[in-house]
Amino acid sequence: MNNEPLPLLEPEVWQTCPEPQRERNERTIPKGYWANRHLYSGAQCHICLKSMTDKATEKGWWVHMTVDLQLAPVGAEIAEDRSQGWFPIGAACAKTIPLQYRKR
Ligand SMILES: [Zn+2]
Repeated sequence: MNNEPLPLLEPEVWQTCPEPQRERNERTIPKGYWANRHLYSGAQCHICLKSMTDKATEKGWWVHMTVDLQLAPVGAEIAEDRSQGWFPIGAACAKTIPLQYRKR
């Protein structure tokens, strides 16, 4: 049994969506979304920026992001000033993230 703590995943490892695809998906986000998120329903997949319905967000997978954009393993203790909190990811992108780094 290997009891080594799991490492933080660097963006180069978890960001599997090509930048041109992210840019295409980002263009579908309504103008003003990020500044006025409370006015919009749904969310964006943190990996590919595709829009997600409220239901997909609620029932989907979430990842824990550090301020350095690393993914923390589920259950890892991240100091409050090092954590950006949890972000939703879509079903397709979830398949690219190891199970130890996402939770429902
Ligand atoms: Zn995605």
